[in-house]
Amino acid sequence: MEILQNAGSHRILAIMIGLEGENPLQLIELAGRTAYQSREKITDDSAIKFVEMIRKRGHESVIEHSAMTVEFNNVSRGLTHELVRHRLAAYTQESTRYVDESDFKVVIPPGKDPDEKVVTLEISDRIGAVPSPHIFAVSFGQWMQLNEQMYRGLRIAGWVTEDARQVLPIGIKSQIVITANLREWRHIFELRCAISAHWEIRRVMVNLLREAKERLPVVFDDFVIAKNGKSVKQRRRRQ
Ligand SMILES: Cc1cc2nc3c(=O)[nH]c(=O)nc-3n(C[C@H](O)[C@H](O)[C@H](O)COP(=O)(O)OP(=O)(O)OC[C@H]3O[C@@H](n4cnc5c(N)ncnc54)[C@H](O)[C@@H]3O)c2cc1C
Repeated sequence: MEILQNAGSHRILAIMIGLEGENPLQLIELAGRTAYQSREKITDDSAIKFVEMIRKRGHESVIEHSAMTVEFNNVSRGLTHELVRHRLAAYTQESTRYVDESDFKVVIPPGKDPDEKVVTLEISDRIGAVPSPHIFAVSFGQWMQLNEQMYRGLRIAGWVTEDARQVLPIGIKSQIVITANLREWRHIFELRCAISAHWEIRRVMVNLLREAKERLPVVFDDFVIAKNGKSVKQRRRRQ
C-alpha cells in the first residue's frame, strides 16, 4: 500500500490535426470557413485570427472540429467519478473488475498526515458471555493497510477481483484516458478549475489548463490563471 499526496498528474496524448498536416487551429479554420465559403482567405498565419474571432463571437461549435486526448495518473476513483459525468467525451479507465488491487495506492488530501491517529475505533469480541471491547487509535494510513489486508484476505479466500473490490476505498488510485473536443474541454475547465470544484480535480485541471494554454493559446487564453494557481477566471468575450 502506498499513500499519494499531491501526486495527480496529466499527460496530453494527442491533439487532433488534419491529414494534410494542418495544425489544430488550421483544421478548425478549414472547417469553420465552410460557413463563409471563404477558404481562399486561408494563409500561413490566418488560423489564429480566425479561431480568435470565432471564439470571441461565441460561435463555439466550430472549435469542436479538433479534440484532445489526455491521460490522468495517480488520481483517485473519486476524481474519475466526477470526470466521467462529462457526457460529451470518450473514456477508458483502469478496471477494478479485472485488475488485482492487492497492492494498492490511495490518495490522501493535501495537508493531512497519514500517520496521525485521528480516529478511535472499537471492535467488540466476546469471551464466553462477556463482551470484550478492543479500543484502537487509528491513522488514515493504518485504516488503508487494514483495508488492503481485507482485500488480500478475500482474494486468498477465493473471491475474484470483481467481488473483492467491494471493500476498496473511493480514494484508491486510478488511471483514466479521456478524449473530448476542444469546446467540451473549455466547459470542463470552466467547471473543474473553479474555486467550487473539489481540490483534487481542480489541481490536475489547473495544471492541464496551463499546458493547454501554452499549446493552443487562442483556444484557451480567455482563462486567466492567478500566479499562485488559486483562482481561474474567464475573461468575458466581446459581443
Ligand atoms: C462543483 C460541482 C459540484 C457538483 N455536485 C454534484 C452533486 O452533488 N451531485 C451530482 O449528481 N452531480 C454533481 N456535479 C456534477 C454536475 O451535476 C454535472 O453532472 C457535471 O458537472 C457535468 O456537467 P454538465 O452536465 O454541464 O456537462 P457535460 O456532460 O460535460 O455536457 C456539456 C454541456 O452539454 C450540454 N448537454 C450535455 N448533455 C445534455 C443533455 N442531455 N441535454 C441538454 N444539454 C446537454 C449542456 O449544456 C452541458 O453543460 C457537480 C459538479 C460540480 C462542478
